[in-house]
This record gives sequence, structure tokens and C-alpha cells, in this order.
Amino acid sequence: MPKRLILILGDQLDADASVLSDINPAHDTLWMAEVMEESTHIASSKQRTTVFLSAMRHFAQTLRAKGWPLIYSELDNPHNTGTLAGELAKAIAHANPTQLVMTAPGDWRVLQSLRAVAKAHALPLKVCDDTHFFSTVRDFANHAHGRKQLRLEYFYRELRQKNGILMEGKKPIGGQWNFDADNRGSFGKQGPGLLPAPTRFAPDAITQDVMRLVNNKLAAHIGSIAQFGWPVTREQALVALDEFITHRLPSFGLYQDAMWEGEVWLYHSHLSCALNLKLLNPREVLSAAEAALHNGHAPLEAVEGFVRQILGWREYVRGIYWTQMPGYLEGNAQNAHAPLPELYWTGDTDMACLRDAIMQTLQHGYAHHIQRLMVTGLYALLFGVDPKQVHAWYLGVYVDAVEWVELPNTLGMSQFADGGLMASKPYVASGKYMDRMSNHCKGCRYDPAQSTGDTACPFTTLYWDYLGRHADTLAKNPRMVMQLKNLNRLSPEQREAIAAQAQKHRDTQTRGR
Ligand SMILES: Cc1cc2nc3c(=O)[nH]c(=O)nc-3n(C[C@H](O)[C@H](O)[C@H](O)COP(=O)(O)OP(=O)(O)OC[C@H]3O[C@@H](n4cnc5c(N)ncnc54)[C@H](O)[C@@H]3O)c2cc1C
Ligand code: SF4
Repeated sequence: MPKRLILILGDQLDADASVLSDINPAHDTLWMAEVMEESTHIASSKQRTTVFLSAMRHFAQTLRAKGWPLIYSELDNPHNTGTLAGELAKAIAHANPTQLVMTAPGDWRVLQSLRAVAKAHALPLKVCDDTHFFSTVRDFANHAHGRKQLRLEYFYRELRQKNGILMEGKKPIGGQWNFDADNRGSFGKQGPGLLPAPTRFAPDAITQDVMRLVNNKLAAHIGSIAQFGWPVTREQALVALDEFITHRLPSFGLYQDAMWEGEVWLYHSHLSCALNLKLLNPREVLSAAEAALHNGHAPLEAVEGFVRQILGWREYVRGIYWTQMPGYLEGNAQNAHAPLPELYWTGDTDMACLRDAIMQTLQHGYAHHIQRLMVTGLYALLFGVDPKQVHAWYLGVYVDAVEWVELPNTLGMSQFADGGLMASKPYVASGKYMDRMSNHCKGCRYDPAQSTGDTACPFTTLYWDYLGRHADTLAKNPRMVMQLKNLNRLSPEQREAIAAQAQKHRDTQTRGR
């Protein structure tokens, strides 16, 4: 019988995972490690590091309670080598296994580093499929094979059919696959009104220990954990799921794209962190959403909108990541080289929309999709920031950030740096989009309708400047025709004034760190 060392990473916290299904405590040892490298290879925010360490420590408790032998390296152990590779080498020396086993990790870099350790010790490393997804990377590769263009919609439909989710026989429930057009509401002038309270959890003793550790060892890292409230155990994650289904799912679709100054949580699920740490399985999440549809609690537009995020986008971006890495990380199709402006680390800006999105990110490690795509992401794209620097920021600041999901969203969907593999066109808009979808512009010193002059909205200036700078390549994209037509309505003088104002705006931004 092989003597196995079963590796469990910080985002693999499910006691029902397939690698643990046939554990034999007499022969097998489990290994988990907190290491500095995971918080420093990109600058991980205090919120993000706290989520990972606290959830890992709670999970270690669960494993120990089952009587399973566990080697666990703590970050503050003076003998901690600081790297996964170093800690694994120590565990191998201690447990003397004949085989290493793990669930496929969420990060290409980590897989390479663990493979190298296995090779150096002449040990076989068995990498098992992650059952916390509906599809495998092989399914995605088969889907992609021979297609000229990849689009979410077709993969999503395939998964709906394969898994019988929101289906009536072979047809989608309600007769259509997609209710996106119904899911673009704003809150209107009157605002969102009384919002359901988010589900937050008071830090227990384990989390408080981690918070002290993070404030001490990672004092210079960005953000604050004064208001930490994320689920860090399976039990808490189930409560968070239940409260989302009960209180927010019915309005999820309608307000999916809406923003409102100072309102962080709105009708979103806030479940990405629990899903990505594997405290929740997406199957149970979608079963709960489908049940809400069938018992009349939530309308089809809301449930389909939610299902599309998890069965569609979440699976799709994972397929993109694993079929495109490692080259994907180098994508810079728009030749963007500006450093990330300092305001991303401080929130110190007079642009109201950016300030709101960045400040809540620093405070909670969370921003909803449209804030990430159409506020922080859009500004970086229009500004012309080096996509790798944008990627490092997103991977560091959000509690749900793991590279398999963060990178395609940032580099592909938001920065168009993969040249259109993820998205059929760059997501670009002027300040008028923000004005339509939020109330930010009402309290801002800038005017979203102006592209030049003292009160010109930087988003609007940079938008026209972006279209002008990339007009030749964008002209090949049929989905950009309308936007370029509008650009061509501007006189040469107007375009010149916009380009000058855009340059002035860039020059006024403090250079990145
Ligand atoms: C630039 C950028 C970076 C992003 N980085 C991450 C990241 O690091 N980690 C992450 O989980 N998501 C990321 N996303 C996707 C999305 O913004 C978050 O999943 C979502 O905002 C999380 O909040 P929520 O749980 O309230 O989501 P909800 O709005 O409630 O959506 C429900 C669930 O659907 C899934 N989902 C929704 N959109 C996406 C998507 N585009 N890709 C993959 N899954 C999706 C998530 O699991 C989410 O919990 C990123 C998006 C952008 C534009
Ligand atoms: S005016 Fe421009 S900068 Fe100000 S909130 Fe609106 S979009 Fe943002």
C-alpha cells in the first residue's frame, strides 16, 4: 500500500473532496502550509490574507477532529521557510511518503513549483480533477477544439444541457437561454431604498488570532481588517448561501449591473470567496437557486442570471485559464505600458466612482462585478496601464482572488489584453455609462458629458482618446462600428483637444509604486 502525503492548498478546504474520500489514517498524512510567499508574490491585502489563513486554520481543526494525521505549517513559526516548496520538502522529510496526491490547484505557478519538489524527491505526484466545477479542463478543451471563436454563451448552453439545469427536456425553461437584456436595471433617481442586510460573521478566536498576525507581520500591506466579516467555515458558508437565496436572489438579476454610492453589498451573493475556497460546492449553490425558482420564491430572470454567472462564467474562465497558460499572462494586445496610478492603492482621487469602488475594496476586499469591470477595470484600460500591473492589483486586493478566475477576468475581459479571446469587444464606455448606472456623477466634481475643459470627466476624455488611439485595430471589429461612428463625428480640433486633455490627465496621476 502506498504511503501518501495528501497536499491541501489554501483554496481546497472541503472535507468531502475526492482526494480525501479513501483516506487511510494508518498510511496517509495530510499537509497544509501557510507561507509568506503566497502573500508577497503579489501584494496580498490584509482582507485577502486573513480570509485564507483563517479558513485554513478552521479547516485544519476539522481535519484534526476526524483523527486524520496532519502536518500544518503556521506562518509565524520561526522555522517556516516562507515557500510552499520549502515547507513541502520539510513535510516529505518528516512523513517519508511514497506518493504525493493533490487536487488540481488553482494557480499554474503553484502547480509548477509543487511538481518541481516532487521531481527533486523522485516522488510521483498524482493530480486529481477538482470536483468543485461542473466541467473539467478537458471538457473545455474539447468544446474549444476547432472553433474559430470562443464565446461564453455556447459553452454555457452545453453545460445547461449536460447538467439538466434550468431545462425542460431539451429546451431551456421559459423558452430562452438568456435573460441578460432584463438584467441591466439601474436604481433610478430614487435609489435602491431599503436594502437587505449582508450576511457578515463576527471574528471568532481563531480569526482574531489571524487578524493580529496579519496586522503584525503584514502591517505594510494594503487595506484594513477592522470590519472583517467573511465566512471562514463550511457552516458559515451555508448560512451565507441560505440568506442570499432568501433575501437577495429575487432581485439579483434586475440590479446586477447597478451601482449606488456607499452601498457595497446590494443584491449580490458575496459567495465567490466561499466558492473559491471550496467551502461551498457550486452544485449545492445552483440547486438552492433552482429550488427558489420552482417554489415561486425567485423569478426566472433572477435565477437564470445567477446560474449564468456560476455555470457559465465561472466554468468558462477556468477553461480559458488552464488551456492558455502560461502564455496568457504575457498578453498585451493593446500595447499598454503605463504604470498603475497610485490612487489604486489609496483611493485618493476626486473621481467619485473610482474613489467609492477602491475605498470599499480596501475596506472589505470586495467590489461587485460591474465595479471591477466598468469602474476600476475601465479606468485602467482607458488609461493604458500595463495589464500585468492591473492583474497584480486584482489578484492582491480581492478576497475571492485566485489566479484561475482573476486572470482571465482582468487580462481578458477587462483589459482586452488577450486580443479578444475572452470578450468579443473591449468593454469601453464614457462617464455617461456611470451616470446611467449609478448616482456617483451627481456628487462628483466632474461632468460625465464633458470631454474637455476644467470639469471634463476623465472617463469621458480617456474614452474618446482610447477610441482615437486604437481606431485602426478596432475598425476590424464589427461590434465597435457604432462607437467608431460616433468618434468620427468629432472634428479634428475636438479630437486634438481631447488627446491633449487625456495626456494632461495622465501626467497629473502620481506614478505607481
Ligand atoms: C477585473 C475583474 C476581476 C475579477 N476577479 C475575480 C476574482 O479574482 N475571483 C472571482 O471569483 N471573481 C472575479 N471576478 C468576477 C466577478 O466580479 C466576481 O466573481 C464577483 O464580483 C464576486 O462577487 P459575488 O460573489 O457577490 O458575485 P455575484 O454577482 O453574486 O455572482 C455570483 C457568482 O458567480 C460567479 N461569477 C460571477 N461573475 C463571474 C466571472 N466573471 N467570472 C467567474 N465567476 C463569476 C462567482 O462565483 C460569484 O460568486 C472578476 C471580474 C473582473 C471584471
Ligand atoms: S463624472 Fe466621471 S469621474 Fe465623476 S463619478 Fe461620473 S464617471 Fe466618475
